[in-house]
Amino acid sequence: MPKTNGTLGFFENVNRSFDRAARFLTYPEGLLKQVRTCNSVYTVHFPIKTQHGYEVISGWRVQHSHHKAPCKGGIRYAPEVSEHEVKALAALMTYKCALVDVPFGGAKGGVQIDPNRYTPDEIERITRRYTAELIKKNFIGPGVDVPAPDYGTGGREMAWIFDTYASFYPGQIDATACVTGKPITQGGIQGRVEATGRGVYFGLREACEQAEDMKRIGLSPGLADKTVIVQGLGNVGYHAAKFCREGGCRIVGIAEYEGGIYNPRGLDVDAVLAHRRETRSILDFPGAENIRPSSDTLERECDILIPAALENQITEANAPRIQAKIVAEAANGPVTAQAEDILSARGVWIIPDVYLNAGGVTVSYFEWLKNLSHVNLGRMGKRFEQSAFDRILHTVERLTDTWLPEAERRSIVHGADEIDLVNSGLEETMITAYHQIYEEWKGDARIPDLRTAAFISAMKKIAVSYMELGIFP
Ligand code: NAD
Repeated sequence: MPKTNGTLGFFENVNRSFDRAARFLTYPEGLLKQVRTCNSVYTVHFPIKTQHGYEVISGWRVQHSHHKAPCKGGIRYAPEVSEHEVKALAALMTYKCALVDVPFGGAKGGVQIDPNRYTPDEIERITRRYTAELIKKNFIGPGVDVPAPDYGTGGREMAWIFDTYASFYPGQIDATACVTGKPITQGGIQGRVEATGRGVYFGLREACEQAEDMKRIGLSPGLADKTVIVQGLGNVGYHAAKFCREGGCRIVGIAEYEGGIYNPRGLDVDAVLAHRRETRSILDFPGAENIRPSSDTLERECDILIPAALENQITEANAPRIQAKIVAEAANGPVTAQAEDILSARGVWIIPDVYLNAGGVTVSYFEWLKNLSHVNLGRMGKRFEQSAFDRILHTVERLTDTWLPEAERRSIVHGADEIDLVNSGLEETMITAYHQIYEEWKGDARIPDLRTAAFISAMKKIAVSYMELGIFP
């Protein structure tokens, strides 16, 4: 629900960013209003018999923008899900897709359940029924609206969505493209599971390479030896932590539901995950200090704080105590508008969600393309590339009379597999988008921050779409 105590709700926060950016644009008011408004909102309530008796489940699908088709956005399962939250998340998707140049309108779905209260069988029935409700109103389809995983959902739920859709439309040749984030065997793509976390790493790395900005916040350029705290060890948080660690960072703190752990010498993220699987808690991890309540972990000393759980985690209450110099928004909406003002006044650099977690939708786009083309990425070109590299290398070896060891030769002539292409496309996307936003930011001294610059960049692209349709002058 929107907050009523003077603090802004999530959707108002997103619209505040929009309004801030709109001040730097000269489009007609009607056009801006059209871009800002949610185009379609669908609410469903359906009954399900569970171990708790008969329950009425509430769900939503919001299509924020139809300026491009299909719409695209994840489905969230959480007890706090509301129409207001889904609208905010759908709006963010519109700007996110525009930023990373994926040709989709923004959408989002939500089902108001705590997945931990249900058996897998019950979650399957809820997922299939929710999908059937979307089908009834034409709110899902390869060219209409394409869901993906979000908080509380993953490949398993996407497989059920695909299977339900395919059984309603037997013979529809493009049915696999009705949802992304599917398991590989169901038409998924290599690298989608880790895509959002990997994208967070690429975006953060790019930001940290800007020497001037790093100097401003008192850090040396690059990720090497930066200390990091991560909130949420789920899909996005785990992968972001893993790739940042591989990229040279030291993960000093992790916060989960049950509490936090902190070790200034560094934490092995995989070992923490294994410990949590075994003991059902990250607490009591060998060598680390336990922190309770969990939210106190965010206030510990570090260079980079990565909130990767839910929205509204950094508020006016804890923002004054955040010690990080960079807040990297891996989750959607983790910093409230009031907290953003406090952090910015204290010189904390925020890398905004609308850009930083766009890796998921980027690789979902690759999966959608793969499904529509009915061929694995890399299948057509890999061998051809490999033999071309082999011939070039052989010529160089012959001319220089230098013969490489077989292992080295194999690594050089290797043609691109699906995972190589996905990761290369993701890296390219995150770097290109960062520099588009950065140029916008540095191009006008009045633009206060990276978030406003990101919204300006996205809004310009969306406005052009409407103008090219001739709807607005
Ligand atoms: P997830 O369900 O896989 O993981 C979330 C984790 O956060 C869980 O382990 C949960 O226990 C933990 N958590 C929840 N509340 C917490 C709290 N108060 N303190 C500490 N830990 C807490 O979800 P996810 O897919 O990783 O999504 C996380 C965020 O990233 C969400 O905001 C989501 O919208 C955003 N996001 C996800 C994707 C994606 O591809 N999955 C893409 C873009 C953005």
